[in-house]
Amino acid sequence: MPETIFAKIISREIPAHIVYEDDMVLAFLDINPTNHGHTLIIPKKHFINIFDGDNDTLTHMMKVAKKVALALKKADLAEGVNLIMNNGPEAGQEVWHAHLHVVPRLNGDKVFHKPNHVTNPEAEFSTVQEKLIKALVN
Ligand code: AMP
Repeated sequence: MPETIFAKIISREIPAHIVYEDDMVLAFLDINPTNHGHTLIIPKKHFINIFDGDNDTLTHMMKVAKKVALALKKADLAEGVNLIMNNGPEAGQEVWHAHLHVVPRLNGDKVFHKPNHVTNPEAEFSTVQEKLIKALVN
């Protein structure tokens, strides 16, 4: 397994605030939380992100995200949650071991700013739709 910081957490070479573990994943508190209870879910086997991850493990990560989201609510740490997975440097990924962020949200917390939108999207819809459908079926 490549020696990322998350591999070292899996092997217990470095500490983390672990909140859940099973055969396939580990969940622990993000060291630089966006909000209290910000949790990362990582696969125990190494893959980089959604592009090289296997479906069973990715599916399991999402199941555990639901478990963590419900627990955050039960513990009064969240009213809502954002699930975020940064895949690739262009998308802001900084650690090269896949991870799913569960970010707790409270009413009015203003954790994230509204994203930008492309101008005149109608002009592109048909071209983009055609390209994507072609790529999905092949
Ligand atoms: P990303 O930008 O999606 O790659 O996010 C990487 C996340 O890993 C960041 O939110 C970091 O705060 C978090 N992180 C980095 N090192 C550690 C660590 N040792 N323990 C817990 N979280 C970490």
